[in-house]
Amino acid sequence: MWRRSDTPGRVTARPMPEADGDWPLPDFDRHGRDVLDTIHDYFAGIRQTPVAGPHDRRQLVDRLLTGIPEHGQEFDGILADTRDKIIPELLHWNHPRFHGYFPTCASLPGVLAETMTAALNVNAMLWRTSPAASALETVVLRWLAELCGYPPDADGLLLAGASPATLYALAAAREESYAAAGHDVRTHGLNAPGLPVGRVYTSDQAHSSVDKAALTLGIGLANVVRVPSDAHYRMRPEALEEALTRDIAAGARPLAVVATVGTTSTGAADPLRAVAAVCRRHGVWLHVDAAYGGFYPLAPSLAGRLEDVAVGDSLVVNPQKTLFVPLDSTALYCRRPGALANTFRLVPEYLAPAHGLGPGEEGDFMDLSPQLGRGFRALKLWWVIRSFGRRGLAARLEKAVRLAEDLRRRVREHPDWRCVADSVYPLLCLRYEPAPPGGAGGTAEDRARLDRLNAAVLEAVNASGEAFVSHSVIREGYVIRVSIGNIRTTEEDVAALWRLLTETGERERGAMAPVVRAG
Ligand code: PLP
Repeated sequence: MWRRSDTPGRVTARPMPEADGDWPLPDFDRHGRDVLDTIHDYFAGIRQTPVAGPHDRRQLVDRLLTGIPEHGQEFDGILADTRDKIIPELLHWNHPRFHGYFPTCASLPGVLAETMTAALNVNAMLWRTSPAASALETVVLRWLAELCGYPPDADGLLLAGASPATLYALAAAREESYAAAGHDVRTHGLNAPGLPVGRVYTSDQAHSSVDKAALTLGIGLANVVRVPSDAHYRMRPEALEEALTRDIAAGARPLAVVATVGTTSTGAADPLRAVAAVCRRHGVWLHVDAAYGGFYPLAPSLAGRLEDVAVGDSLVVNPQKTLFVPLDSTALYCRRPGALANTFRLVPEYLAPAHGLGPGEEGDFMDLSPQLGRGFRALKLWWVIRSFGRRGLAARLEKAVRLAEDLRRRVREHPDWRCVADSVYPLLCLRYEPAPPGGAGGTAEDRARLDRLNAAVLEAVNASGEAFVSHSVIREGYVIRVSIGNIRTTEEDVAALWRLLTETGERERGAMAPVVRAG
C-alpha cells in the first residue's frame, strides 16, 4: 500500500509496512511532532474551549462506529479525527474551570512522562523485569510517604486508583484479622470452618470504594457498618466504639476500620487519633483513605491543622487527585511489615528467580497485590515531583486553598448563597437559598423545591460550557460541589465561576417561580 501525505512539502509517498514491522522512524518523528503540536494547541486553547458540552451518547457512538479498518490508515487522518471528533466531545478535566468531583489535572511534565513511559513500555512486576523502574518506584514511594507524613520505610506500591488500594488493604486486613483468630482464610477462603462473620467499619460519609471492596472480598454490603458522623460529617469515635463492642459481644469479627481524610461529599476528615485509639483498644486494623486530603499538609496555611495519617496501619493517597500527576497514579502503603505480601505473594515456577534472591535483593512488586503485569507509573511521579519540587507543589496546593478561601468569602457576603459543611480543603458545598417564591422556607416541600432549584443551577452551569461543577446530597440537601485544585486555575477563573453561579441562580429562580406559584 502506498500513502500520500495531504500536507504539501511533507513526505509524500512511502510504502506502509503492511505485513511486517513498525512505522519507520522518520514517520515517527514527523507524527510525533504533529502530536506534540496538537497537545500544544490543546493546552494553549483550553481556556477558550467549553469545559463540557451537550454530549449525546448514542450520537457519539454512532459517529465513531466504523468497521474495523482492513488496511492500515494514514496517521494524519487518525490524528485529524482525534482532533475533530474526539477532543471536542470530551469533558475537559484539564480545564482551569473544571471544578467537579476532585481536580485530577495533568501537568505538562506529567504529560511528557506518560509519553516516555509508553515508549519504554516496562513491566514493573519483578525486579529483574524492571530494575530501574522498580528502584524508582521504591524511591517515589518514599518521597510520597514523606510528603504526606507516613513512615517512608512502610511497604507500598503504586496502583491504578484508590478503589483497588482500599480493596487490597482490606484483603490484607481480613487475612490478618482471621489469622489472629486462628482461621486460615488464605487456604480455605470464606469456607474456613467456624469462620465468624467479618465486618468492616466506616463512617456514613466514606467513599463507595469501601462497599465495593466488601462486595469483592465476600464480606458483603450488610457487613459494612456505617458509623454515624457528627455535625461536621466526621466519624464519631464513640459511635465506632459502641459498634465494635456490640458486634464483638455478638460474635462478629471486626476486620478493619476505614477512616477518611477528605471525604468525597464535603471534604471532612475523621478524627484519626481518636479513631486509632479505638482501633488499638480492639486490636482492629485501621485503613486511612486520604485519597483526596493526603497531600494538603504540604500547604503552609494548613500545616499542623490536619489529621496525622501516620496512625493508619495502611494508607491510600492519590497523586492523580491533587499532585498534578496524570491518571492513573495512586499509592498504597502498609506499615504492618509483610502484611500485603502475606496476603498476595504467590510465585509460580515461571516467575521464580532462577537462582533464588541474591544478597540484598528485595521482594517484587507483584508480591504486594493481585496484579502481575504492571506499568511504569513511577516515572511520571519522578518527573512531576522533580519539576516542581516540594516547595513548588506546596505553593500550588496553597494557591488552591487561597482560591477556595476567596470563593468562601464571596459566598458569605451574598444573602442568598450558603456554604454548607465547611472544609479546610479547597472543596466547597454551595447551596442557593433565595427567599420565596422558589426559595427558602421551612417545610419539606420548600426543601425539595430548593433541591430542584440547585440541581437546575448545576445543569445550566454545566450546559453553558463556561465551568463544570458536580453535586452531592448531604443533610442540608442537594449541594453544588466546587472543587478547586487545577494547576491552571486563577483568581479570574474563580471570579468567573462565581459570576456564572450567581447569574444562573437568579435566572433559574425566575424560570422556576411560575411553576412554584402554579403548584
Ligand atoms: N476515596 C475517596 C475519598 C474518593 O473521593 C475517591 C474518589 O473520588 C476514591 C476513594 C476512589 O478513587 P479512585 O477513583 O482513584 O478509585
